[in-house]
Amino acid sequence: MVYTYLVKQPTDSTSVFKLINTKDGIRQGSLKTRVGTVVTPTFMPDGTRGAVKSLSPQQVADTGVQIVLANTYHLHLSPGEKVIKSLGGLHAFANRPGPILTDSGGFQVFSLAHVNKITEDGVTFRDPVNGDTVFLSPEISMQIQLDLGADMMVAFDDVTALDASGRGRTLEAYERTHRWLDRSIAEFQRLTKHMSADERPLLFGVVQGGLDNDLRKKSLELVQASAVDGIAIGGLSVGESRQELYDMLRFLAPFYDSDRPHFLLGVGDPKDMRIGIENGIDMFDCVLPTRNARHGSAWITGDKKIQLTNAKFAKDTKVIDPKCDCYTCREGFSLGFLRHQFKVGEPLAGSLVSVHNIRYLQRLCEEYRNLK
Ligand SMILES: [Zn+2]
Repeated sequence: MVYTYLVKQPTDSTSVFKLINTKDGIRQGSLKTRVGTVVTPTFMPDGTRGAVKSLSPQQVADTGVQIVLANTYHLHLSPGEKVIKSLGGLHAFANRPGPILTDSGGFQVFSLAHVNKITEDGVTFRDPVNGDTVFLSPEISMQIQLDLGADMMVAFDDVTALDASGRGRTLEAYERTHRWLDRSIAEFQRLTKHMSADERPLLFGVVQGGLDNDLRKKSLELVQASAVDGIAIGGLSVGESRQELYDMLRFLAPFYDSDRPHFLLGVGDPKDMRIGIENGIDMFDCVLPTRNARHGSAWITGDKKIQLTNAKFAKDTKVIDPKCDCYTCREGFSLGFLRHQFKVGEPLAGSLVSVHNIRYLQRLCEEYRNLK
């Protein structure tokens, strides 16, 4: 089968994003989804298997989260999109009425699974749990995400691993990503043609190109010339240095068009998010706030980190951050209490610190949304 680039002009659907204000490269905007409008910049916690780990939907909502991300790869393997569809889709399944974004599954296939074969058609890999052979392609990824009931979907991309890949692999992944984008768009349009503009989910195309400026710029131009509602920046925060990440974010900033949201995949460190927001990024997702929390690490004012398992907190009556308005800090859970809960392996500690860390990133976004 031969696939060719089919560069399409943006459709009217791009008007789902409205720029409210800009200041020194920072964008304040609003994004209309079929289940409500969100304001940007915004951080989306990862509800990997349908839930943000150890938190109830109410606890997530109380932190100010507007969108939750769910992983196509994990949900496809278990319980499967057909099961979730039969239970009413992700919104009913996970008891979350607000917007849900699903990723394409590509990143997890390339990072978690044993990939047997990458061909023009798609990727064959082994299910790490039961050893079954699984095949994912742009068309199958679109079908899964639609069956899951996502409000925002991501085109299936070929993710370049930075380790031992070299420019040859970067170029191959870049070229394939764009051929797969065309196929993702064609399948998305076929599957959603019966839907009205208000019912249709939004589709994000993914920019690849590793750390190669030329490839990144061309990739961005191709994605922006396509019929997608949003621009996702993929293949960063995968092992490059902080400086390389920042250099690429700054390099891309002047080339974005203004009428679509810009989503930086897999970035959730406060400093990285600030550099992103100051260079035109509107949306972020990452497992970092919840993963760090489960390991006893909390962010405090100034984007610093404290390690709550440290013995020095054993008799400390202070909260994590007196300037924080999250449930955990507001209700006065002391460092001494949290340290003890971690020490004896009580899951409550991870939940309470997850609430704090997610709220920390929401407050960071609010700070930029409130700039005059
Ligand atoms: Zn807090």
